[in-house]
This record gives sequence, structure tokens and C-alpha cells, in this order.
Amino acid sequence: MRVNTESVIDRALQGDEMNVEEVEWLLQLKDDESIEQLRCGADVLRRNLVGDVVTYIKNRNVNFTNICNINCAFCNFAKHGEDSDSFTMSISHAIQKIEEASPYGIREVCLQGGINPDWDFQDYVKLVSAIKERFPDIHIHAFSPFEIFYMSKKSRMTVQTVIKTLVDNGLGSIPGTAAEILDDTVREVICSGKMKTKEWVDVIQQAHDLGVKTSATIMFGHIENNHQRAQHLFLLRELQKSTGGFTEFVPLPFIPYKTKLAQSHRIVPISNIDVFKFYAVSRLFLGKWIPNIQTSWVKLGKNAAAQSLSWGINDFGGTVIEENISRSAGADHGQFLSSDEIKHIIEEAGKVPQERDTLYQVI
Ligand code: SF4
Repeated sequence: MRVNTESVIDRALQGDEMNVEEVEWLLQLKDDESIEQLRCGADVLRRNLVGDVVTYIKNRNVNFTNICNINCAFCNFAKHGEDSDSFTMSISHAIQKIEEASPYGIREVCLQGGINPDWDFQDYVKLVSAIKERFPDIHIHAFSPFEIFYMSKKSRMTVQTVIKTLVDNGLGSIPGTAAEILDDTVREVICSGKMKTKEWVDVIQQAHDLGVKTSATIMFGHIENNHQRAQHLFLLRELQKSTGGFTEFVPLPFIPYKTKLAQSHRIVPISNIDVFKFYAVSRLFLGKWIPNIQTSWVKLGKNAAAQSLSWGINDFGGTVIEENISRSAGADHGQFLSSDEIKHIIEEAGKVPQERDTLYQVI
């Protein structure tokens, strides 16, 4: 299908909703002039929707276990229990990690781990409640939809009861990770042991129905095609229309270097320009429905993340402190950016830095 690029972008700027075919068209653009039109359109829509403010959050990650038997082909973080470099943190160790970050004034801790077969639902509950008791003012953003799904299966409790119990014990919100590409033919190749698309959607819907906010993500730049990327965006927009529970969209470029998936499918890293194009198309497609779109300095590095701010992005993510998942896959962009560095990068890019909390309340 041939599409008039200028008219699709103009209509998106006027608030018209793009369709899947139009997304596919924009993603395949190759000539410099059309790509610049795309960038400008996304930049204008970003300004119209959220102004020149670029937000960031002071947070830290705690990956509490890397033991996992799911064997996703794109993941180099997981280890089997017998591997010498496998680990599971005690609760006191997890608390110590957060204490180490306290001098930075963190407002959020993000907890995610492997699907450790030795963990029961009560282990997750104890972890959350111990952290909440020790740090009552820190927002706990924790457990991917797949971890929630696993807790539900293992405990034989409903997803709804699992989420409610976690919230009662201190959970604040849920990262919308484990989405990868929401297409079961792709999932069969990259993460066949993980939940199916419908199951991911179900966990997210139930969280939103309970009033628990989540982020939305995509992991792109591997075996998926433009149609599957477009369908993923479409699914997220439709979900948001019905629940309003997504706080942000976080497109995550795939880091291939040390992964089995890259070796078996000869995947090379996606270029920065292709990442930026996807950011811009996401902005135009999601429009007013998901106004916060986050770049990923952990995956792209500081310079490319700064550049991405002119492609429709309005959030720089977090200080992070200790990022293990991308690093295990071969990313080498460091594990910490201070809030002063982030502010400096945003200002250098001609935007206005603003600290936020997990739910995008201005600090
Ligand atoms: S992505 Fe998650 S579920 Fe898959 S192997 Fe890695 S840690 Fe396990």
C-alpha cells in the first residue's frame, strides 16, 4: 500500500489516529527528506502534547535473582541454579542495595528478577513488604507481568488476588516488561517458554482494573517485521483506550551481542536512525493516548539518547544505578547517571529538565 507521508503526518498532528498500514509505511521510509519530515512531525506533536519539558526519575534497580529456567533466546541475564555465577539475594541484601542508593534521594526502586523455581509467592510478598517497611516513601515499581503470571500459577491464586496481595504489602506499580513483541509467532522463536500475548494483555488489564498503573514496553530490532511492530503499537493504544492505565511507553532496542538469538539469526544491532524512526512513529501513532515516551540511555548511550530528544521523546528515564540485563547482553553504556548529568544532557539538548515520580507527578 502506498501512503502519502506528508498527509499521514499532518493528520496525526491534527489528532487523527493512524492505522497499522500507515505505521508500516512510515517505518519503511528510507530517504533523508521523508525521515526528516517524520522527525519534525514527532517533535511538533511532542511539543503540542507535553511542551519542552523532559522528565527523569531518581531510581535504582534491584535484580534480586538471575536464576531462571525459561531460556528466552534473547536473554543473557538468566543463569541456571547450578551455574557458578547464579545468585539470589537475601532480603537484607536487597535492602542494603537500596540503602546504598539513599544518598542519591531515589524515589523509586525497580525490582525484577528471573523466574526462580525455588521462589514461592510468599517470597515475593516478603521482599516487597520488607522494603516498604524499611523505606515507606520509596515507590516500589516491581515484577513484570510474567513474574505476576508465574506467581499466580505457582500459588494457584488468581492474577487479581496476586496483584491485590502485592499492593497490600507495598507494591506501587508494575513495569510493562515481558511484552517483547506482542505477536505469538515471534514469541515462539524468541521466548517460547514465556507467556502468550493474550496472557500478557490479561495481566495488564487486571492490574489496570485494580487501579494499578503500569508502563508499556516493546523490545524491537531483532526478528520482527514492521507489521508486527505496528500491531504491537495498535494493541497498546487499544488497551490504553479501554483502561487508561499506562503511564508511559518505553521502546527498548534489542541488544544482541552475547545472546543466543543473535547467534542463531545473525542479528546485528539496530542502527540509531532506525531506533529514532521508531520513536518518532510511536509518538505520532500513540498521540494523546500515551503522551510520555521514554528514551533508553542504558541501551543507546548518553549521546544517542540526547539526540533522541528531538525525535518525539519527552522522558529520559532514570538514574537507574546498576543495570544488569542490558549489560549481560553486551551493552556497555554504564550503570549510573547522576541526576545532575541527566539535567545537563537535557539542557544541552535545548529542553527543560524536570524530576518526576513513577506516576509522572512533578517533584
Ligand atoms: S527474559 Fe526473563 S524469563 Fe526470559 S530467560 Fe531472561 S530472566 Fe528468564
